Amino acid sequence: MAELIDADSLTWKTNLVEGVFNSNEALLICSIPLNLRNNSDQMIWVSNAKGVFSVKSAYFLDCLIKQQSVGEASNGVAVLLKRQIVEDGLCPICQSNEENVIHVLWNCSAAMDVWGERESPLNKWSSVYKDFRLLWLDMVNRLDVVQLDQAAVILYKIWARRNCFVFKNIFHSPLALVKSALNEVEVFHESQVRLTYVADRLLPQINAVEWRPPADPFYKLNFDAAFDSEKRLMECYALLRSIKLCHELCLYQVVLEGDAKAVVDSVNGYNNNHSWQGLLIEDIQFFMKGQADWSLKFTKRHGNKAAHIVAKLGMYLDSESVWIEEGPQEVLSITLLEKPCTV
Ligand SMILES: [Zn+2]
Repeated sequence: MAELIDADSLTWKTNLVEGVFNSNEALLICSIPLNLRNNSDQMIWVSNAKGVFSVKSAYFLDCLIKQQSVGEASNGVAVLLKRQIVEDGLCPICQSNEENVIHVLWNCSAAMDVWGERESPLNKWSSVYKDFRLLWLDMVNRLDVVQLDQAAVILYKIWARRNCFVFKNIFHSPLALVKSALNEVEVFHESQVRLTYVADRLLPQINAVEWRPPADPFYKLNFDAAFDSEKRLMECYALLRSIKLCHELCLYQVVLEGDAKAVVDSVNGYNNNHSWQGLLIEDIQFFMKGQADWSLKFTKRHGNKAAHIVAKLGMYLDSESVWIEEGPQEVLSITLLEKPCTV
């Protein structure tokens, strides 16, 4: 194992890992974060928030495993994945009705699971529609503009999920589908703030913006994370990556700022947490202590807008992306709004 790690830079020897393992395994291995403090290994219990084993946490884990196995049997996804594509015109997902547009997008039980999700804009609807035109007319009449956008993206994603199932045998959960649709609509709306619109409304907007530049000669680095689950752990990773970036850029006076209050408080306070998250906090504290002019501050979410949008964009990237000087188009409107604060 040690041979796969570069002892000086404490990074994976990517070329060696790729030479020894297949591409998926290599990707997985290289994505495992390495301990940056060179301290000894320790055993942690991952099913407890503090990384400590207790009978109670083992009991909850047992319940969770049982629940998952019941869930798999009842939603039938495992069974569906084993089925071959049939040529009888039946819906390839539920196999019990003729496959047509309104069935796939609305009447199929798999589609109803999506629309019934708590965050779906249509989760209280129970109407039955004979064709898609009637459904769409009803949507246009009953939904506001944002909800209609969300519904349109969900419709597209239900269709794309059906194709993904037929051609790749992969079936995404209703929750993952709805979440990714809502994220995309949010990113889309943020990127649609037009410059002319900004110019017209600049003054009232300035009062609402809370991001503030650091005092000279400090740099400010805003961080955020977006993920389907384990948000706090991801926020730790985002902060750790931000810190490494400051190191790489040789910045000595830095204000790190994020809206992850629990993470910021843990790093600035006393940490006796031995979970994965706790170990990451230790890494972060170790780095922060080595830099006299670095500080970590909490800001509310609207003071961290650009980082928030970039984090959401990151969910759709396959590999790390770094922009120097100019950022992605989607955050341009936010940074332009915040720019007057620096004057
Ligand atoms: Zn069906």
